[in-house]
Amino acid sequence: MVKYKVLFFDLDHTLWDYDTNSIEVLSEIYHKHVSSDAVGLELFLKNFTKVNDALWDEYNRGKIEKEVIRKDRFVKILEQSDVYDLPLAQHISEFYLFECPRRTHLMPDTIEVLTYLKDKYELHILTNGFDDVQEIKLNNAGIKKYFDKVITSESIGHKKPSKEFFEYAFSATNSENREAIMIGDNLKTDIAGANNVGMDSVYFNPSGYAKPHKAKFEIKKLSELMDVL
Ligand SMILES: [Mg+2]
Repeated sequence: MVKYKVLFFDLDHTLWDYDTNSIEVLSEIYHKHVSSDAVGLELFLKNFTKVNDALWDEYNRGKIEKEVIRKDRFVKILEQSDVYDLPLAQHISEFYLFECPRRTHLMPDTIEVLTYLKDKYELHILTNGFDDVQEIKLNNAGIKKYFDKVITSESIGHKKPSKEFFEYAFSATNSENREAIMIGDNLKTDIAGANNVGMDSVYFNPSGYAKPHKAKFEIKKLSELMDVL
């Protein structure tokens, strides 16, 4: 059954519960700075998702730099939320960047699954997230110890889904495509990237919303990894 030697995990939305952590911090921001009759919490959160997803998509495609996400995000969200105040947007941005990575919600079964897999495989993180915050997330959520290497796109100058990113990951972990598998929630970065280098992949799709993909496995819950790996 054990066909693989190396498991590559994505971090955000796969192990670290980005949405729950982010909503927690955004709710605090909303109640302190944004709250109004015109813009309810739900709309504020929706505006964040819309702006943040669009900026991340542009970043993943190499269209914008990291600083643009960090600088523009809350300016755009406040504009859409009927509040426009540049210093406030900057203040909120700093607060969010400091607080969010320190929140520790993980996707259900993360610890149980990592504990099970750690005995059988080498585990590594492959992320397009930024060096400074990814380390904080792993440490604060108590999951750093499960991973041998944390490979960030920022540190190597290439992003998922590029071939260069994955080739770097193979050489850094002394592995090759046939003995490794990528586990992630993003079809454009994790799964397309694995396909680009002929590596198997597991598409983590907790929403269950059907989308065509070329991953070898699709799971709705992390605990299903204990059946397929
Ligand atoms: Mg992800």
